[in-house]
Amino acid sequence: MTDCIFCKIVNGEIPGDRVYEDDRVIAINDINPQAPVHILILPKSHIKSVMEIDSDNEDILSHIFKVACRLAAEKGIDRKGFRIVNNCGEEGGQTVDHLHFHLLGGRFMEWPPG
Ligand code: AMP
Ligand code: ZN
Repeated sequence: MTDCIFCKIVNGEIPGDRVYEDDRVIAINDINPQAPVHILILPKSHIKSVMEIDSDNEDILSHIFKVACRLAAEKGIDRKGFRIVNNCGEEGGQTVDHLHFHLLGGRFMEWPPG
């Protein structure tokens, strides 16, 4: 998608601090980190939100979670714990309309979220 910031990071038009990449996803450090570890995992293809997941593309979700857990182990936050977050839509707090999951860790996570 031409005016999508995450598509632009995927195709190299704008820089992203990549910590992982494979044929289906990239992971980047969040530009405005909310925890010592704050990584975004996103599909290379433009999917607007979890509301666009269907039987044709649902495999991307398990892949994203596997990558997130691998990164959690690499960053050393797997033993103490971490949080994986998806914001969907305006009231859900989604500000970039390209599906992504936040991997947050390295500090105690409060509940309920704000
Ligand atoms: P959300 O609010 O759930 O849509 O999350 C969007 C996230 O993208 C926010 O945490 C932003 O800090 C982050 N973000 C926006 N632009 C960039 C960028 N160029 N590189 C890395 N992270 C970004
Ligand atoms: Zn996009």
